Amino acid sequence: MRGNGESMDTVAVHGGEPRPGPDGSVVFPIYQGTVYETEPGAGYHDLKYIRLNSTPSQQYLHGKLAALEGAEAAVATSSGMAAVTSILLSLMRAGDHLIASECLYGGTHDFLTGHAADLGWTCSFVDAGRPETWAAARTGQTRVFLVETITNPLMRVGLLDRVAAFGRREGIVTVIDNTFASPVNFRPLQAGFDLVFHSATKYLGGHSDLVAGAVMGDTDLVERVRKTINLFGGSLDPHAGFLLARGIKTLSLRVQAQNANALALARFLEDHPAVAAVNYPGLASHPDHAHAAELLSGFGGMLSLRLHGGEQAAQALAGAVTLAYSAVSLGGVETLVTRPAATSHAGMSPQDRDSLGITGDLIRVSTGIEGTQDLVGDFAQALEKSSP
Ligand code: PLP
Repeated sequence: MRGNGESMDTVAVHGGEPRPGPDGSVVFPIYQGTVYETEPGAGYHDLKYIRLNSTPSQQYLHGKLAALEGAEAAVATSSGMAAVTSILLSLMRAGDHLIASECLYGGTHDFLTGHAADLGWTCSFVDAGRPETWAAARTGQTRVFLVETITNPLMRVGLLDRVAAFGRREGIVTVIDNTFASPVNFRPLQAGFDLVFHSATKYLGGHSDLVAGAVMGDTDLVERVRKTINLFGGSLDPHAGFLLARGIKTLSLRVQAQNANALALARFLEDHPAVAAVNYPGLASHPDHAHAAELLSGFGGMLSLRLHGGEQAAQALAGAVTLAYSAVSLGGVETLVTRPAATSHAGMSPQDRDSLGITGDLIRVSTGIEGTQDLVGDFAQALEKSSP
C-alpha cells in the first residue's frame, strides 16, 4: 500500500494499484464474474462472490480506498447509507447506547431517530464542539460516538481531535463521516478516529454518475463491517466500482479546485449587500474557523448562505443561476445549489430543523471545478435578478 509520506496527488493516482496490473494493464479491468473457483474448505466469507465483497475488482477497489485514508483495510458499499448502517449494525447490540452529533446528514439522522429504538439502541445527540455535552451523555452502555467532519448544511467543524481522544479514553469506538471534507482535506484515522466512512457518491466518485459508499479503518473493524454487509446485501457492483476507482484518480486535483472556488465564492457572497449570512469554515467570520484551520488542510467545496430577501429570494436565486444547477447531492465537477429544508433535511421535523438553524431561506452550494470568475459571475447575475 502506498501513502507513506506521498502527497495526496500521488496517492489518488497510484494508491492501491497493483504493479504490474493484470496482464500488464495500467487500468485495472472490470471482473464482472459473480463466482470463482475456490480452494476446498474455504470459509463462507472467503468465497469469491460479489455479495461477499471478495472478487478481484472489489479487492482492487478496497486497496485503493484504504490508501486514500491511510487505513489498514477498506470495504466499499452500495451507498453511503449502506456504509453508515452497516457500521452501526456491526458495532451496536440491543441495549447499547450511541452518542451522535446533533448535526448529521438527514438520512443518518432519520435512521437514528426512526430505527434505533426498534433495534433496542438508545441515542444521545450532542454538540461536537462542546465536550461537556459528551461527558454528560456517556453511559455505561455507550459503544459508539458518531460525528461528521464538516456538517451539512451549516458547515460546522467539531473539536474532532478531542472527539477521537475522548473515544480512546472512554473505550468508545469513534466513527466519522468524512464525505464533506474528503481525505484531501482531512485524514480522520491520523487524528485518532477508529472508523471513517464516505458517501463515495460525492467527492470520491466526483462526477455525479454513481452511488457508492466506503468504510476504512483497521483490519479487525473493517472485517466486522464487511461481514455485516455480506449478510445485509449492501455490496457494490463492479461497474460502479470501476467508475469510483476512475474518479478517485483525479480526487486531489478536483478537491483543490473546489476548495479554491468555494473560498472565492464565499468571500464574494460575504461582501454582497443582498446576502445576510455565509457559512464557510474558511471565512474568518465562521465560528469554527480557528480550529478548522488547525485541523483541516483545506476548507472544502461546500458553503451555505441566507439572503435578506428570505425564502422567496432563496428560491428565486436557485432558479436564476445559469451555470450552476439547482439539484441535490454534492461533490461533483458541476456546481449545484439546493434548499436543504426542502431536500436533504425535509425528513426532519420543522422544530428540529429550526433548532439547528436549517431555515427555509438557507441555500447550500456545492462548488464544482468551473472557472472561478465564471462561477462568481453566475452568482452575481443571479443575485441581481433574485434580490429586490
Ligand atoms: N453522508 C453524507 C454527509 C451525505 O451527504 C450523504 C448523502 O447525501 C450520505 C451520507 C448518504 O450517502 P448516499 O446517498 O450515497 O447513500
